[in-house]
Amino acid sequence: MNWLTDFVKPKLSSLVTRKDSPSDLWTNCNKCNLMLYKSEHKDNLFVCSHCDNHMNMDVENRLNSLFDEKTYEMINVPFENNDPLKFKDLKKYSDRMKAAQKKTDQKDAAIVAKGNIGNIEVVVFILDFNFMGGSMGQFVGEAFKIACEKSVELKCPFISVSSSGGARMQEGIVSLMQLPKTVAAVNVLDQHKIPYISVLTHPTTGGVSASFAMLGDIIIAEKGSMIGFAGKRVIEETIKEQLPEDFQTAEYLLDHGMIDMVVHRKELSQTLSKVLSFVKK
Ligand SMILES: [Zn+2]
Repeated sequence: MNWLTDFVKPKLSSLVTRKDSPSDLWTNCNKCNLMLYKSEHKDNLFVCSHCDNHMNMDVENRLNSLFDEKTYEMINVPFENNDPLKFKDLKKYSDRMKAAQKKTDQKDAAIVAKGNIGNIEVVVFILDFNFMGGSMGQFVGEAFKIACEKSVELKCPFISVSSSGGARMQEGIVSLMQLPKTVAAVNVLDQHKIPYISVLTHPTTGGVSASFAMLGDIIIAEKGSMIGFAGKRVIEETIKEQLPEDFQTAEYLLDHGMIDMVVHRKELSQTLSKVLSFVKK
């Protein structure tokens, strides 16, 4: 028996082991790499206090940041996702789903809620980037349709908050069918004269940007978000040209008339209530 390793070391380890390890308390900015204290970072709406980088925000905090008095009601999406292709790459799609459900405590990558923003009732649809990159499969398409129908039923404006890598490749053609489905749902809003505000957050790409996200009556993007269809490198290789440094940023899209506003996350709820007061008239 080695007295040092078998007796002294465990004793010392138990003395220095704390409940909260530093990795639980701190996170790093993925742009400037500054260490950020997690609770302060949350209070700062996940915006880096040093470089103003708008980092990923989970659904619960997003809902709390948008609705008046952090009060809202979830709208159930009665639809169970399935695995139409019985898809398998390195892992089974069904296993990926289970892992994502466990990680996020959500059924799938979208949630629908209703509540007030600036005292105006709204239905809000949010894509969760933490759930398989906010990818759009059957569930997400169905959730979007249900959210639009709810807005029509309540005769209230509709807001979508996107953050997505695009269509969910594990569902193949079925995921692509969600593009026309969501576009049809936006048309229903239009027929009923329901205002639709689309909020684009980092990143909004692929099939989501190619469908409902760019169809808002008013399109607002969070500062610094990457918004586009295909990636910058893919486009450069296709057209054999170098693209500007700020290509596919929210600010670039605003300069080129693709979106209406670029807003800091801390001003998003306030901006939405202002816009809602205009469109509600
Ligand atoms: Zn930073």
